[in-house]
Amino acid sequence: MSDTETQTLPPVVVSGIQPSGLLHLGNYFGALRQHIALHQQHEAYYFIVNYHALTSVRDAAALRSYTLNIALDYLALGFDPEQACLFVQSDVPQVTELAWIFYNITPVSQLEKGVSYKDKVAQGLPANAGLFNYPVLQAADILIYGGSMVPVGADQKQNIEISRDLALRFNQTYCPDDPIFPVPEPLILADVAVVPGIDGRKMSKSYGNTIGIFEEGKTLKKSVMAIVTDSTPLEDPKDPSTCNVMALLRLFADADEVAEWEARYRQGGTGYGHAKKRLLALVSEHFEEARDRRRALADRPTAVEEILVEGGRRARRRAEMYMERVRDAVGLSYVGAR
Ligand code: ADP
Repeated sequence: MSDTETQTLPPVVVSGIQPSGLLHLGNYFGALRQHIALHQQHEAYYFIVNYHALTSVRDAAALRSYTLNIALDYLALGFDPEQACLFVQSDVPQVTELAWIFYNITPVSQLEKGVSYKDKVAQGLPANAGLFNYPVLQAADILIYGGSMVPVGADQKQNIEISRDLALRFNQTYCPDDPIFPVPEPLILADVAVVPGIDGRKMSKSYGNTIGIFEEGKTLKKSVMAIVTDSTPLEDPKDPSTCNVMALLRLFADADEVAEWEARYRQGGTGYGHAKKRLLALVSEHFEEARDRRRALADRPTAVEEILVEGGRRARRRAEMYMERVRDAVGLSYVGAR
């Protein structure tokens, strides 16, 4: 399958999210919001990547709890299990088999250039082999369902590039006349780019600088009030383009309100505290209905588990279809192959 042929087929949307903490505004604007919109229009597979989370989570109870919490988040935000597949990565163990096959056609030098790996190590995460090989497992995640469209945040651009290279390299190496994998395209919304955390770095579960999608009351207030700003006095003009509060406010407020805040910043007389207060109200309002739905769902944990189990069953069937072709192409299947 060539790059152009891939684009003529109906897209298969795939994306994963790590259960290494509670989901935050970066996850929502970079990924979840698109996931929810796209699953109504296309075939879609969304997975909670618990194998990936093992790179940093060492507590079994916490991993289980984050996993179920993410499922609750998706359902509360409008994911409809009748329309698409929501499941847990480890319910499709074939993905680790495909990753192993991919390791053997992945140059170490390509992984060494991984920005996300280097960032995490620079921030103090231990440099284990799982973290280093993360993009290869991610490629397997995408390709094992024949994924062609990957809605992600801008931080994932380089990783998706590795998935594209692996699809092309695998096809060229093992099945040039009848390519197995489509070459996936990232879908990155330009207006979101990378959502900053309360300390101004990329908002990430790994950095402890998040505002949770479902935070409310005092907890939400504490997070919003903790957003780091400079020390320009209230009466002085401020630069709206470098302010973390404004960066978040832009995601929630409409264009007129954003313009108004920018003008107030430039004029002076508006403190960061004013903008934080407005941001707090906007975040709280934006997720109000989803919070109610989430509370109702949390009372029925078995129903949520069943959705995941059924999603896993469907995903496994599709993955196995690809894996049969892969095992054949690389020479792992031997019965009757004389
Ligand atoms: P985290 O860094 O919090 O562990 P994940 O690696 O689980 O997040 O990413 C899940 C999805 O959320 C990915 O598509 C990623 O691009 C997106 N995402 C994560 N953090 C941000 C952010 N700060 N801004 C935009 N998108 C983000």
